This record gives sequence, C-alpha cells and structure tokens, in this order.
Amino acid sequence: MPSSGQGNPESMVVDYVTLFQDFLQSFTDERGERKYMNRIREMVFYEGKSIAIDFEDLARFSDELVLALDRESQKALEALSVAIKSIVESINESYASRVRRFYGRLTGWVKPTPIRELRSDLLNRLVLLEGIVVRATPPKQRMVRATYVHVLPDGSQHEFAWPPDERELEELEKPSYCPVCVAEVSEEVGSLRRGAFRLVLEKSTFMDWQMISLQERPEDIPPGQLPRSVDVVLTEDLVDVVRPGDRVSLIGIVKLLRGGRKTSSVFDFYIEANNVIPAQRLLEEVNIGPEDEAKIKELARDPLVRRKLVASIAPAIHGYWDLKEAIALLLFGGVPKVLKDGTRIRGEIHVLIIGDPGTAKSQLLQYAARIAPRGLYTTGRGSSAAGLTAAVIRDKQSGEFFLEAGAMVLADGGVVAIDEIDKMRDEDRVAIHEAMEQGTVTISKAGIHARLSARASVLAAGNPKRGRYVDSLGLAGNINLPVTILSRFDLIFIIKDVADVSRDRQIVRHVLEVHGTEGVRAEIEPDLLRKYIAYARKYVRPRLTREAREIIERYYIELRKRSAMDPNAPLAITTRQLEALVRLAEAHAKVALKEEVDAEDALEAIRLMNAVLEKVGMDVETGLMDIDTLMTGKAKSLRDKEVTILEYIRDASRKGECVKYGELEKLGQGLGLDRPALERIIADLRKSGDIYEKRPGCYMVVE
Ligand code: ADP
Ligand code: MG
Repeated sequence: MPSSGQGNPESMVVDYVTLFQDFLQSFTDERGERKYMNRIREMVFYEGKSIAIDFEDLARFSDELVLALDRESQKALEALSVAIKSIVESINESYASRVRRFYGRLTGWVKPTPIRELRSDLLNRLVLLEGIVVRATPPKQRMVRATYVHVLPDGSQHEFAWPPDERELEELEKPSYCPVCVAEVSEEVGSLRRGAFRLVLEKSTFMDWQMISLQERPEDIPPGQLPRSVDVVLTEDLVDVVRPGDRVSLIGIVKLLRGGRKTSSVFDFYIEANNVIPAQRLLEEVNIGPEDEAKIKELARDPLVRRKLVASIAPAIHGYWDLKEAIALLLFGGVPKVLKDGTRIRGEIHVLIIGDPGTAKSQLLQYAARIAPRGLYTTGRGSSAAGLTAAVIRDKQSGEFFLEAGAMVLADGGVVAIDEIDKMRDEDRVAIHEAMEQGTVTISKAGIHARLSARASVLAAGNPKRGRYVDSLGLAGNINLPVTILSRFDLIFIIKDVADVSRDRQIVRHVLEVHGTEGVRAEIEPDLLRKYIAYARKYVRPRLTREAREIIERYYIELRKRSAMDPNAPLAITTRQLEALVRLAEAHAKVALKEEVDAEDALEAIRLMNAVLEKVGMDVETGLMDIDTLMTGKAKSLRDKEVTILEYIRDASRKGECVKYGELEKLGQGLGLDRPALERIIADLRKSGDIYEKRPGCYMVVE
C-alpha cells in the first residue's frame, strides 16, 4: 500500500474516519431526510452488512472525500467501513460486535475506465468498469482468519488465531511460530518449532467469495480486435448477485495477481470489487436523445420507410431483397408472450442462410451484427471455450472451475450472427435447441448447476455439405445440421451461385462501384438505423388486429386442409410456422413503429414465408408445400419412388446380380419418372452410399 508521501498516514486514516462519520451523520437529501442514517438503521434492522453510498452525494458533500477515495482508495474505503461500524455501535452494540466488517458500496464513480486501458498507474486505485460477466465460479468460502492448535510433543496444546495481528489471511500458510509459546518460552528459540500445527476448520473465520471475469462489451471492442477481460473478486453480499451473460457496472480497486509460476515477476491485474451493479436488461447502451427521437419519428412517418430500411441492410451487397427483408425483420423481432401457465413463446426471429461459397453470406452476417444493438458475430466453433451456449471450464492458472458464457448468452437481448453454423461443437448441438426455443441455457457439470438467459435472435449461415447446394438432396441433405435445429428457424434461405449473365453483369457493376468509390451510401445512416432499431425494440409492442388474425388463420387452415384431403399428402405446415408467421407480421409492423399488426403486415409475412417454403419445400410433383422435405431432404412422392427403385436393386443384389440401366429406365417409366429424374435418383443413391456401379451401367446395393 503506497502512502501519499505527505502527512502522517496514521492520522490521515483517523481523519478519513471522522470525515466519513460526519458525512453519514449529517448528509441530508432534498426532502431534508438524513439519508445515510436511515440507510444504516435499515441495514441493522434487516441484519445487512452494507449500505449504498451515492457518489453524487459524496461529491456534493466534500471534495476531500472524493480525493481520498481516488488517491488512497483502500485506506479511504477502510475508513468508511470503520465509520459505519462506529455508527452501528451507537444503534445496536450487540449487532455491531457480531459483524466482522461493514461495507459502504459506491453506486457511481468519476468516470468509467475502458477495460483495455487498465495500466499500472491505476494500481491500487478505485475504477469504474463496464462490461459483461463472461465467467463465474460458484460461491466459495474464503478463510479470513485461521484457527490453529499447536500440539507439543508432551501432548499439551495451544490454540491460537492466525495471523496473530488483526490482519486477514492472504494465503493459507502454516504459522511460522506459535504465538502462545512465544510468551512462555521466549528465550529458547530452538523449542519454538517443536510440535505440530493443526488447522481447526470449524473454529476458523470464513467469508463468501467468488471470482468472475469481466469482459468488454462487444460494442466497445475496436474493430478487428479480440475482447479483453479482467478477473474480479467478489466477497460477502456481492457474491452470487450476477451471472455469466449479465451486463454490469463494477466499482473496485485495481490489484495485482501473481501469474502461474511463484518465482515470476510478471503479474496480472485483478479487481477487488466494492460494488457490482447489474445493468438494465433493456438496451440502455444505445443512447437516444431528443433529437434522435424526432428523427426516428419522422422516418417512421415516411411511407417508404420499409423499402429504405431493407435497402440500408448491407448496401454494398447486391440483390437478395427477400433475405435482406428477413434480416430487417429479425433485427426488429416479434413480441414475446408469457402465457398464464408461465410458458414463454419467443419473440426472437431466427433466420438461416445456406449458400454456396462466395455468395456474401459472411458479409451479410457481419453487417447485421454491427448494426444490431447488442449484436455479436461469431462462428460455429464459437469465439471462446464456451462456444455458442455455455461451458464449465477449468482455469489453468488457478485450477478453479468456472461457468463461462458462450455467444448466445453474451448476446442475450440482442442478435447473434453465427457463421459456419454447421461446424458447431457437439455440446452446442444439444444446448442450442433450448437456447433457440426457450431462450435459456441450462448447464450441470462439475458441481455447477445454472440456468442462464440467452434470448438472442439467431442469424446463421452454413455452407452446403458437398461444397455446392444439390437440389435433389433437399435441405436436410445439404447441410450438416439435424432437422430438430433446422425446424427452429423461422425462415431458411438458399443461395445458389448460378451463372446468369445479366445478374453477373449487375453484380460486377455493383462491386466495381463499391470498390471505386468510398462505398455505397446507405439510404439510412447506420447510426440512425441502429437507434431506430433500438427504439422499436424498446418501445413498440404491436398487437394483432382481428383482420390480421383472420388472414393468418385462413392461410394456415387452407394449407392444413390441403394436406388432410389427401391421406398420402405430407404434412404441409406445422404450428411452428404459424408462430413464425405471427412473429414476422409483428416485426413488420414494428418496422414502421406501428402499435397494431394489420392486414398489410400479415400479408407480407405470408408472402415471405411462401417465397421461402417454395424454395425449400415445394413438392414439385404434387404442387403441395412439403415440410417433410425439410425433415428428410426429399419430397414424399419422390422419396417413395426412390425407395421403390432402391428395393428393386436390393432384390437383385440378394441374388448376387446387378441391375442394368435399361431395366431401371423401364421401372422409372412405370413410376412416371422421366430420364433426368431417374438419373438424379441414381446419382443420389450413389452419393448417399446406398448403391454402387458394379460394372458400367449396372448397379448393386452396397452391403
Ligand atoms: P461467403 O461467406 O458466402 O463464402 P463472403 O461473404 O466471404 O462469402 O463473400 C465473398 C466476397 O464476394 C465478398 O467480398 C463479397 O462482398 C463479394 N460478393 C459476393 N456476392 C456479392 C453480391 N451479391 N454483391 C456484392 N458483393 C458480393
Ligand atoms: Mg463465409
């Protein structure tokens, strides 16, 4: 602890105590109430250990106290603690004697320090940090004072507390001498170490303790940099008040933590917390002033607002209107509902893009993450050990088990863009189901049991399994993701890189224009767009009108009916799509800051859903929408024929014969398959490893 170098430190501590006592006893608020005396009385009544101290009150009361907290943070905080205790003593002496220590917890500080700007000149000083809790150990017990028994060779014992002065224990070390015998055998140094020391856990003093890691908020990280974080120690009533994924303001003293090797002279920072204040779950971090609000309202009145908005999503990327509209709707989101029985229906809209390489998927994702309030870009592998959901990991240095938040938890309340989602870890494959539908991540491992909040909208992209999208394989056959995850996306887009001269020419022009100039100007400036989205997410909660309800109902019933008429028809549409339609319609209304979801919104949601369903699921043979295609990758009628062909080849194979192409052609004709369709089926069966070409033009089943 460095001293200020001026004055007598001892008397200064005393001075601080008197100053703080004075503050606590005499500070009166605007209503003339003795605010802090009331807080202390309340604390005693509820048997608490701490009171909140509002920084603004301190600053108004005395510069000296602020200066003391800034220059000699540790000493000043200790003085504050002593001052509180002395007042408690005058209120309830027996309670004061039972509590080892009281705390004054600051609710603000001069100004926040960015985590990446922690430097040695801030050592031992009070700082205010803002960030996200990324990991936390479970609550533990830290020994503050140990009780030992000195057992002498003759069997007699001395019990004593360690350390012998009133200090707190830094590390658990064996006593270097017995404070009891020192007095008894003060001359005979040799006998001091005789006997053995035994730690008596039951008689030692403990306090609640927890270590967390605080990371920069994604929006504070400079472009292209990795997030920085700092460890924080929480004690007593600060333990277990925050969870991984929480955004917090944190006030504490910067201290040093020795690195891995004991002999190393290199240290890490850590923060000893004085207070930790969870931030509001709403989007406080986007600052919307009165001028912004006027601009937002004006934009909302523009009849072309939706057009302009969609055009402002990644303006450097040519085309993809429907996809950009879907991304816009995802950014605004639907309205979450909590049913009477406590079930939650999500408002988050999830969108998946499966596309050939080089079709600007990554670009779109990065743009969306940048524009979204609380946006986060990551890959399927995740950016940390915790991956996409959460994990229990062991810290290499301290050996402690931590619960660490993954991308979806960190983006809680915002948007997570997951590139190359098909490369997701196995653990995430399991946990992401719950995260996408319920908005929670439950983890139970290595003695840590927790449920974290993960209400993030997912914009994901994946590459086709075989490099390029193969139509005949259907959706599920093209991407390395289980159907259960696919079905949680509200909309799925397929981007194929087909050569199309006029389209290619347009892209070339567009790309060259982007490269030639400063870039294209968006219709709506990114900054305003972000504020507009944040405003809509925070204040607009549109409700379905009767009209909209009827339109959605009719569309849904019609599709269900069509599948009911034909007993062989695949199930056309499920309640998942129904909920998705409602969300999309709500989001569409939100884009214009409307409080009501009307016919226009419902129709646009249906148009978008139809466009997507046709691309991914339309059964070309029966003209029916076929969600079955999603599940197995084949429309039902086509799949039936494929099975017939496979069984025919299998029968022949059992007799040890292969089936000639001519024979299959005849069979195909009987099934109503033309040549290209038959060839596609044969190609698919070969690709899936069901059959092989034994001799040219003769096929057999692989056993
Ligand atoms: P993916 O992630 O789909 O493999 P990328 O996002 O990495 O593709 O895109 C590759 C490059 O091609 C990017 O520089 C992107 O800007 C460009 N590009 C691809 N399609 C378009 C398009 N339609 N308009 C403008 N640029 C495009
Ligand atoms: Mg990519």
